[in-house]
Amino acid sequence: MTPGPPRWIVGVDIGGTSLRAGMVPFAGGEPVAVVTGPSRPEEGAPQMVRRVVGMVRDSMESLGEEAAGIGIGVPGPLDRARGIVIEAPNLGWRDLPLRDMVARRTGLPVALDNDANCAAYGEWWMGAGRGTQRLIGLTLGTGIGGGIVLGGEIYHGASDSAGEVGHMSVRHPGRTCSCGGRGCVEAYASGPALAARAAEGIDSAPNSSLATLVREGPGPVTAEAVCGAAAAGDAYAMRVVEEAARILAVAVANLVHLFNPEIIVLGGGLAGAGEVLFGPLRAEARRRTFRPAWEACRIVAARFPATAGMIGAAGVLKRAIHG
Ligand SMILES: [Zn+2]
Repeated sequence: MTPGPPRWIVGVDIGGTSLRAGMVPFAGGEPVAVVTGPSRPEEGAPQMVRRVVGMVRDSMESLGEEAAGIGIGVPGPLDRARGIVIEAPNLGWRDLPLRDMVARRTGLPVALDNDANCAAYGEWWMGAGRGTQRLIGLTLGTGIGGGIVLGGEIYHGASDSAGEVGHMSVRHPGRTCSCGGRGCVEAYASGPALAARAAEGIDSAPNSSLATLVREGPGPVTAEAVCGAAAAGDAYAMRVVEEAARILAVAVANLVHLFNPEIIVLGGGLAGAGEVLFGPLRAEARRRTFRPAWEACRIVAARFPATAGMIGAAGVLKRAIHG
């Protein structure tokens, strides 16, 4: 029997809290037979990689199909040419030859890219940015990830480090960021930053549902709680989200001036806040940008907020084996 054309690619999304693998149609689409598990970085890299390989096998077996290869989205600076994760602090990985470790154990071709690049590429390939030539994707979660897709290609820069939107400086000198720098947009508009800001001012808003949460449990304030309360119309939570949105708008305005993109796609947990976030973000970014650039750019929510990373990782593998 001669093998038919490839039908599936395994897309893998490796994050600081969870791991996900799913079968993505070769022609593109949402992953099926998705397998998830906790990251448990404390187990160490070899054990984590073994579990990732197990999830890849489980995903293929549950669909009863082989895959043409495996695309992996992973945090941290990478050396894509050598398939190495140079540093992923949330995972405790350093100089990990992830591509070859997974390829050796599965016998399949493997390609790596940055997790936020994969999410942006997934939205470009199959999601909100289909058919566009200049897309910037932002993932608003524990950190703020970014990816730039120009002419259907992820823009990687000179050393695979482009698209670090979360570490654009928007305040001087500014708050300390998880990267060790100061004034990064991530220090103001990430999930933990939003939760911290809400907790800081909580005494000034005793009637907020967030204050009740802290007083009567289950507290402490989380980013999800802030977004939920804001979406439900809680005035204090709305103020906190709006403040983050306005700072995020500074980064968005910078991106609009620099790249003149057609679309900026926002994914990740915070994007789920909806109009409470998007309204002030658009209003502030519009005030800060040249009109022709602003009018050419749509700012939209991701179509695949949870799975764009897997879809994009599969797209990266497809690109690597088929050009
Ligand atoms: Zn930073």
